[in-house]
Amino acid sequence: MRIRTVSVHTGVAKDKSYNSVITPIYPSSTFYFDAIGKNKGYDYTRTANPTRTALEENIAALEGGVGCSATATGMAAVTTVMFLLKPGNHVITGDDIYGGSYRLFSSIFSGMGLSFSFVNMRDVAAIRAALRPETKMIWIETPSNPLLNITDIAAVTALAAERGILTVADNTFLSPYFQRPFELGVDVVVHSTTKYINGHSDIVGGAIVYRAKEIEERGRYLVNALGLAQAPYDAWLALRGVKTLAQRMEAHQENAMKVAEYLERHPRVKKVYYPGLKSHPQGELIRRQMKGFGGMLAFELDTSKIPLDRFFERTKLFALAESLGGVESLVEVPWQMSHASMGEAALKLSGITRETIRVSVGIEAWEDLVEDLDQALKG
Ligand SMILES: *Cc1c(COP(=O)(O)O)cnc(C)c1O
Repeated sequence: MRIRTVSVHTGVAKDKSYNSVITPIYPSSTFYFDAIGKNKGYDYTRTANPTRTALEENIAALEGGVGCSATATGMAAVTTVMFLLKPGNHVITGDDIYGGSYRLFSSIFSGMGLSFSFVNMRDVAAIRAALRPETKMIWIETPSNPLLNITDIAAVTALAAERGILTVADNTFLSPYFQRPFELGVDVVVHSTTKYINGHSDIVGGAIVYRAKEIEERGRYLVNALGLAQAPYDAWLALRGVKTLAQRMEAHQENAMKVAEYLERHPRVKKVYYPGLKSHPQGELIRRQMKGFGGMLAFELDTSKIPLDRFFERTKLFALAESLGGVESLVEVPWQMSHASMGEAALKLSGITRETIRVSVGIEAWEDLVEDLDQALKG
């Protein structure tokens, strides 16, 4: 079945009592046993819940994994995956990953016996040079946030496989509709379902998707033991949202392409980062690895011509807000907002400037979005 069918038909038809077409919300914290040792597969909602299971089946099917854990937030998913490691282990990841992941790695897990190398993930040689005997995980986030740099997933997983290193891909930006990391050899896929999977900016959530049964078992054990699972209500909303993933991703992409092309021609814009533009330096890899370009882009505003504040005061359809992947368009300044927790030195190293504006392009009419940007850029 194609993704458009899978997203609609997986994890539904769960209600044998009344035949509801839509999966019910099971808000029960506990489930009774028919006899000691005999229940219907659920005992306590931290461990498992039928609504959450339905969402997990759906996301696992979309990614092509053997199973999935739906977590309370994207960071809960990232946290769980880090607990697959042991003190002394070393992790290689990008110098331009999601700010919250960077903070978790550099200020929480670094103090708990793990060590990290933050490298330029575009450069496979740099990844190879960072390898140590104790390297046990390579954390991939591609396209990166917010500069849309691309990591060659197959090259990284080949490097890791020779050495028995676990590979993880944060697939939040493209969603399984535009990128399927398991097909490129990745072991674990992580999502902030807050973004495209749910798509409506009305919950926070995360997902860990497993390629093999052994890691799934360990992952489920950890989510339960750490207490990081998603609430049934939120899982239910994510399951509703994911059904239109394909249609939304197509709409996001079409709009992002129009906005990127418009911005690239604008005299007050110095540079545009979008994988769909011919100017993106990694075009060959993009076509090889991605099934689409997604709805995220970034650009450098020429603040000698228009002050940053002025631009944000004037936009009407693009709300100044963090987060991304919802049906509505958002703009933000990574330096001061989403990526501020990285600190100045790391920000500079990653190529983010004070003038970098990140855009999450929504599914509105692209003509309205371009008109809004046009009047805002007049300043
Ligand atoms: C938002 C995001 C996260 C964190 O997810 P939350 O749901 O905010 O906890 C992780 N990775 C990426 C790429 C994200 O965009």
